Order: sequence, then structure tokens, then C-alpha cells
Amino acid sequence: MAEPAALPADLPPTFPWHTPLIKQIESAWQQDRLPHALLLHGQPGLGKRRLAEWVARGLLCEAPRDHLVACGHCNGCRLAKAGSHPDLTVVTPEEGKQQLSVDQVRTVSEWLVMTSHQQGWKIAIIDPAQLMTVAAANSLLKTLEEPPARSLLILVASSLQGLPATLRSRCQRLAIPRPPTALALGWLHETSSQAIPAQVLEFTGGAPLRALEVHEAFARLDEEMRSSLADVLAGRAEVTRVAQFWAKEALPDRLAWLDLWLMSLARQAIAGTLDLVTFPEQPVPLPTNANVLNISHLYRLADRIRELKSQLQRTALNRDLAAELLLAELLTAFTRRQPQ
Ligand SMILES: [Zn+2]
Repeated sequence: MAEPAALPADLPPTFPWHTPLIKQIESAWQQDRLPHALLLHGQPGLGKRRLAEWVARGLLCEAPRDHLVACGHCNGCRLAKAGSHPDLTVVTPEEGKQQLSVDQVRTVSEWLVMTSHQQGWKIAIIDPAQLMTVAAANSLLKTLEEPPARSLLILVASSLQGLPATLRSRCQRLAIPRPPTALALGWLHETSSQAIPAQVLEFTGGAPLRALEVHEAFARLDEEMRSSLADVLAGRAEVTRVAQFWAKEALPDRLAWLDLWLMSLARQAIAGTLDLVTFPEQPVPLPTNANVLNISHLYRLADRIRELKSQLQRTALNRDLAAELLLAELLTAFTRRQPQ
């Protein structure tokens, strides 16, 4: 999706689907049993970094409290809020780089063993942790084997792939769950001044923050996909031209849209299935003589789309050709007359 709108700045520090994890972390803190390393993982759009920062703020707050939530007024809170707390550091890829280098990780490891400025916790957030090079991840292992007292390393990862098993096993892993649909939709309704339809949430794989970010771009994509697909299926548009257009811009998003569209047709085909989220609300009009595809055929087409999507991520595919073959396959599936 080309230009997602920025997330509103006034979002709360944590989200309702974080509550069970917060309770877990808070209880460990109350019993003075916090681990030295947390690995927060989950798909993009669930607020992992926010949770990491919330935990850091709670630990850096200097006010005596029963709960981990930061007071917001003490010296520690003021410094953390201003982004200038000397005992908190956030490591992200350097500008223009796709990886976290061994030098960055070594620097943060050396920093962690130094005495804290405020005689409290020292916290390093590494985000996204899965972008550490192998050497960087290995250099972190030493720190995890002999963690300095009152230090906390928070690794934030949207995928556990790419993180060595030796590293994962030395962290307490906390998966940020995808919220139930009703909770996510309720939260979107309360948070956004604009109505965000359920299909946007479905398009983002159930990630509410991502839905908030992309809903405007999704509305444009949805309209465009409906009309171009309807044109192709009705024979009003050439497959090659439409394929070129799809290949040129946001092809992975178009594939995700097609996947949802096929799944919605499959759901419609399953009698008695009542799903909270149905996509699209108004199906793309199929030509009057269109084949009614059975469920296994729809799933086969969806599988094909998912495979293409993963190929796009892994290999340098000829996008024009891939889009054209896919469109031709859809056209054949929906309009070819079956032999009697
Ligand atoms: Zn405070």
C-alpha cells in the first residue's frame, strides 16, 4: 500500500489486547522476578514497540508504586518522556540500512554493563530484533549469558525467523496476540473519527493499528480492484493491460485483496456459515454466465495467490507476467464453460 496515513499522535500508551501481557510483566516486577531479556513478538500493527516503551517507562519511574504504570511526573518519567533518559536506549537500523549491525549491538551490550545513572534499571530496546545480522545476534548471546544486574533487554520482533534459537531460548518470549475481531473493531470505533470497515481489519490480518494506518489507502485499492476485476471478468478490459497496471503498483496488496475476495466467495458457498467479518460487503459482480466455483476450487485459487505472494517476497519475479498468468487463470476459472 503506497502511502498509509500516519498513526494519530494521541493514541494511548498501550492497547486493550496488551492487558494480559501487562499483568504478567507487572506481576513479575512486583515479585522482583523480572527476566533480563524479554522477546516481544507478533505481527506488525499490534503495538509491540509501544508495549516495550511502556514497560521501560514503568521501570524508570522513580515514584514508589504498587503497579508498574509510570507516575508521569517524577524526574525519571520526565526524562523518559522527553526521550533523554540516560538509562534507556533504543537500537534501530541506521538510516538507509536494512540490518542491525554487530557494532550497534556491541555498543549497546557495553552500555548495559555500565552503572546506571539514576541507580535504577538500565533498559535497551532492540527493534526490529529480527534484523540483527548473525554476528550481531551472536554478540548479544554473551550479554544474555551474563546479564548485568538490574538490566533489561527488550527485543521487539515481528517474526521469530532470523533469530537464532540460542538467542530465543535465553529470552522470556511474550507473544502479542491478535485481538479478537469484536475487540479490535470496538477499539477502532472508539479510536478513529472515521468509520473503519471490518474488511480493512481483515485485510491487515486482524492488526488494529495497521488498519488505522491503511484504511484510506485500502478504500482506494478496494474500489480499483472491484472495477478492474469486474471489467476483466465481463470481457470489457484486456487481461494484459490490467495485469500491467496491477504489476506496476502495490501488487502484494492486490494479491491480499484477491485472497480475501476468494475466501469471501468460499464463505458464501458454505451454507450456514455466519462470520462476523464478511468481505467484500458487496461482492464483485460476476458475469451472468459465470461458473459457480466449488469450495475446493476457490481454495486452490487462493493457495495459488498466496504462493505468488510469497514468491514475490523471495525472488525477483517478472511481475507483469505473473500478474497476467494469474488474471488469465481467474478469468478461465470463472468464465470457462464446463463440458456437459
Ligand atoms: Zn514517575
